[in-house]
Parts: sequence; C-alpha cells; structure tokens
Amino acid sequence: MEDIKTYDIAIIGAGPAGLTAGLYAARAGLKPVIFERLSPGGQLAQTEHLENYPGYNANTSGFDLSMIIADQAFSFGASVISEEVTSVEDMGAVKVIRTPFGTYWAKSVVIATGARPKKLGLPLEEELTGKGVSYCATCDGNFFRGKDVAVIGGGDTAAADAIYLSRICRKVYLVHRRDTLRATPIYHDRLREIENLEFVWDSVVTSLVETDGRISGVQVANLKTSEQRELPVSAIFIAVGMAPNSENFASLVPLSPQGYVMTGDGTSTATPGVFVAGDVRTTPLRQVVTAVADGALAAQAAAEYLDELADIEAETL
Ligand code: NAP
Repeated sequence: MEDIKTYDIAIIGAGPAGLTAGLYAARAGLKPVIFERLSPGGQLAQTEHLENYPGYNANTSGFDLSMIIADQAFSFGASVISEEVTSVEDMGAVKVIRTPFGTYWAKSVVIATGARPKKLGLPLEEELTGKGVSYCATCDGNFFRGKDVAVIGGGDTAAADAIYLSRICRKVYLVHRRDTLRATPIYHDRLREIENLEFVWDSVVTSLVETDGRISGVQVANLKTSEQRELPVSAIFIAVGMAPNSENFASLVPLSPQGYVMTGDGTSTATPGVFVAGDVRTTPLRQVVTAVADGALAAQAAAEYLDELADIEAETL
C-alpha cells in the first residue's frame, strides 16, 4: 500500500465546480487531481449561450467557457485522470478512491459530480434515445433542422431549449403539465413572441409514437379536460429537471431525500475531509456562478482541513 501516491485533494468531476476547485487548489500550492469520466465541462459544455454569468455576454458559449476554465486549472498544475470514480472509502486521514481501472489515495476529496437530466419513464423512452428522444437540445437539435419537435417541461432548461430549437426547427411544441411556467420571468415574454412555437398547457406525454425505429409523434393528454392529442413530431426534447450524480457516494456522505449531498457549514459534509461543490449538493441555486463559487470555497475548506491534519500528524510524531 505504501507505493500508492497520495494526492492532497482528489476532485471528482470536471464541470465548472470541479475545475474551479482544481484551479484554486493548484494555485494554493496543493497537488489536486481531477477525476472525470468524460471530457471536461459537464453540463456547462452543453450550454449554447451564457446570459447570466457575470462578465460574459450572450455570444459566449458554455463550451468555450468550460475549456477556458479547464486550461486555466491545468496551467497551474491540476492533473486529470479520465476514469469514473465508483466509490470512495473514508479511512480517516486517507480516502481510498476506486475506479474500474485503479485505486488512488487522497487526503481530502471534493465531490463535484453535478447532475443529469431526469427521464419521463415512458415505454420506448430508452430504446428511442438517440432516435428522436433527446435530453440535450444544443447537442441534438441540429439533427432536426427544419422539422417539427416537442420540448417537455416548464423550467429554465425547457424555455432555453424551446428558444434555441425555434431558430432551427419548423415548429416547436412546448408541452408543460401546468398553465404557468416555472422558468425565470425573462423567458416568458421571449417565448410568447416566437411565431413557430405553440404552448401545449396542462398536458403530459402519455406515449411515444414510433415509426421504423424512430420517433414520429407523441401522444399528450390534457390533465384538465382529459383530451388526448397526437403531436406529429420528429423529436422530443425532455427537460423535466435534473437528478444528482451522487449514487456512488451514498455510503460516504449523507444524502437528502432527493439524493443531493447534504452540506453542513459551507461546502463541508458530515465526513471530515470530504467536501461538495456545485449541482450535486443541497443548495438554493444551481447555476454556473454558484458552481464556481462552491469550487473555490471547497478548495479553501480542503486546504484548511489539510493544515489541521498536518498539525495533528506533527503532534503525534
Ligand atoms: P426545473 O427548474 O426543476 O424544472 C423542471 C420542469 O419540468 C418543471 O417545469 C416541472 O414542472 C417539469 N416536470 C418535472 N417532472 C415532470 C414530469 N414527470 N413530467 C412533466 N413535467 C415535469 O429544472 P431545469 O429547467 O432543468 O432547471 C434546473 C436548474 O438549472 C434550475 O435551478 C434552473 O434555474 C437552472 N437552469 C438555469 C438556466 C439559466 O438560463 N439560467 C438554464 C437551465 C437551467 P412543474 O413546474 O409543474 O414542477
């Protein structure tokens, strides 16, 4: 076991929260390693325009910003291991991190694994994913250029997706289960001004219609009138909220009933030396600006924890 390198901080996830934690930890002279199963950027890399990140205008893409933050973190010495962390075991002064390819040690851990889109749970949803069912308008919208599509949901993601798709698709149906949007008010007027957008209020998708292995429509039911209607669409973009990527840490830190990592003071968790940043934590706001702030706070908290650990180790020598 003595041969295993011990990192000061292992950061799990390379979205804006994890990358910022890496940047701050590296600049503080620590040796951070960032574990990422895919490419850096997380959800931010799939965002078309960033309107509410201070200092950037609407022409800045989330992908560009995530690459800038990644380069910044790496330039100060943060390293990356492109493996998915499947478990973290708390051994006190050392946390044992396991991936399908190896075992790593770190003195502290920052969980920054973000969240993923929720599914509707409909029959055929899984099979037709990538064949007309999508959870990312900016990733897949272009495949349906000039076609009719439906967006499901009433939050900020659904609103932003509907606006994006209205520019490239012939018609966009926005299907929401209530008659008012949850989305930030600024989106409401913009949506109402879009000529090729139709609101389908008080309605839920009851089934997916498939032709030759691809989506050819969706059945929707009006919850107030029970009226059924088929929308003839080539794609459906599901934007009904997010679920935290926290399953692999259920035995390490307490989770909320919704699965978010519970935070104590700031970004600390109930497990000493384990911190949490970004969308995966309990927080009143999940935005890029809060994720990067969390990353900085988590790195700072981890640095303070490492100082205390060093003091205790010095006393016991
Ligand atoms: P969200 O705010 O939780 O909205 C989810 C929407 O989906 C709600 O309208 C909800 O309906 C609906 N919904 C949930 N389950 C459903 C189901 N089974 N069937 C049909 N509809 C269902 O999620 P989000 O839009 O993904 O946003 C997540 C977070 O990211 C939010 O904090 C948001 O502000 C942030 N975000 C911000 C931006 C931005 O531009 N600043 C962009 C994207 C996301 P009800 O309204 O009836 O509950």
